[in-house]
Amino acid sequence: MDLLLRTGSSEQTQQVGAALAPLLLAHDVLVLTGDLGAGKTTLTRGIAHGLGATEHVQSPTFTLVREYLTGRLPVAHVDVYRLSRVQDVVDLALEELDGGHEGVLLVEWGDAVEDLLAGEHLRVTLTARDPVDVDRRIVLSATDAAWTDRWNDLGVALDRWVMRG
Ligand code: ADP
Ligand code: MG
Repeated sequence: MDLLLRTGSSEQTQQVGAALAPLLLAHDVLVLTGDLGAGKTTLTRGIAHGLGATEHVQSPTFTLVREYLTGRLPVAHVDVYRLSRVQDVVDLALEELDGGHEGVLLVEWGDAVEDLLAGEHLRVTLTARDPVDVDRRIVLSATDAAWTDRWNDLGVALDRWVMRG
């Protein structure tokens, strides 16, 4: 299952996150991949605010994990970019977060840890075709049952940004 989206501004990428937010359930894991500046943190900001979180959302690059607790579901936002060894992620109890966190787990640069994440997840791949342009491709893909039930609703919620043809 793949959903291919296009956005033309940072605001639109945040709107995608906000439109996705109502479909999120406790224990969901989103793996966000894409180059630096692709929009992973921007999308996360939209998701957190779409869940009703009022905190300022910024990159967890230097802190590894930021939590936003004021929305409908708590959000744990992890960035593993700075970690030189994937094993560090395990040491930092990502597995514990994965299974034990009552909210939503968003992992930036998640492809490095995708194999370590125990459960089902939604993979979000962001691509800037030209680094100086605002155009972004966002591919949502799920292989897991947890998302099958929501796939139609997801398509409806994100219809504005779906690429056709
Ligand atoms: P990442 O977390 O992937 O490194 P960020 O979300 O921190 O990326 O940064 C994305 C940058 O690209 C921001 O400066 C944002 O304003 C800019 N930008 C321009 N167009 C878009 C777009 N369509 N979607 C997301 N970000 C965009
Ligand atoms: Mg980031």
